[in-house]
Amino acid sequence: MSDAGSFAPGTAVFPRVGPELFEAVRAAHPQRVVLQVPAGLVRNATDLVERLRTETGVPVVLAARACFGACDVPSRDEAPRADLAVVLGHAPIPNVALPRPTFFVEMREPGGDPVRLADRVVEAGVPRRLGLVASVQHLDLVDPFGDALTRRGYDVRVGRGDRRLAYAAQALGCNYTGAEAVAADVDAFLFLGTGRFHPIGLAFAVDRPVWSIDPLQELVEPPIDRGTLVRRRQLAVATARDARRWGILVSTFAGQNRSPTALALQERARSHGREAEILMFDRLDPRDLEGRALDAYVNTACPRIALDDSASYPKPVLTPPEFLMALGELPLEPYRFDTYH
Ligand code: SF4
Repeated sequence: MSDAGSFAPGTAVFPRVGPELFEAVRAAHPQRVVLQVPAGLVRNATDLVERLRTETGVPVVLAARACFGACDVPSRDEAPRADLAVVLGHAPIPNVALPRPTFFVEMREPGGDPVRLADRVVEAGVPRRLGLVASVQHLDLVDPFGDALTRRGYDVRVGRGDRRLAYAAQALGCNYTGAEAVAADVDAFLFLGTGRFHPIGLAFAVDRPVWSIDPLQELVEPPIDRGTLVRRRQLAVATARDARRWGILVSTFAGQNRSPTALALQERARSHGREAEILMFDRLDPRDLEGRALDAYVNTACPRIALDDSASYPKPVLTPPEFLMALGELPLEPYRFDTYH
């Protein structure tokens, strides 16, 4: 178990599912455990429930709802009799209140050869003044990989973000404040991890080329075209500019609820002569927005809903900064990422 001194009482962090976790669950003497797994581990969920139950002797229920982050841990209503939660695949979000003691199993990946990875970076011609960002699963590689790059002449920067981030260098889809803290000192960022979710988020958040490297495949990907991403969002803003009737989306998930922001945006809309209605939901489903007499939406929940999934929605869905651009209160440039603090 790692030092969880900076997290809420009752929070503990484990690198992976194993004896250390089982021992801690037994020591907590829970009546019932609720296990939550991310979408990528759903296939193994039943086996994990069985293993946890067998190893600890405690009843375990599975939270069936797909979970996308530590922002939406199981609520009291979802698992009323569980007095301990085990959340797989995410780091805690330090400034989000938890409904019960919660053990986060971060699924740290022990693989990846820092020396070979540094060689791949040199071969690919990645700029020398470089900021490092990593998914939680690959955070253990950041220090040795950074050292290997430094020995090859790189000036490596690792930023520590705000209280929504548990670790230096950590990527979170709604908060890249660690990268922002060092952006002025680097010519590019390198994301250590897999997939395009974080490179896209980083490209929105920092006006620097974002390279990525898959630590296990040892493949370097060239930067995403930030200009195309931003122009697409500016087009969404332009499409929604004349909307008269706005829906302001608010999530009830503990780590996605920005009710004060929603109320402030409602005020801004009304001051511009627009109608604005607040719509509450837990997990947003595009079908919930069909057939409504509204022209456009501003989403105060997960910022990635608007940025990644807008094609699934029947009307434009903007982030709060984009909404202020549509009202003419913010300029289109520089583009502002909707950082969730
Ligand atoms: S708000 Fe969105 S990006 Fe942020 S942790 Fe939750 S699911 Fe991930």
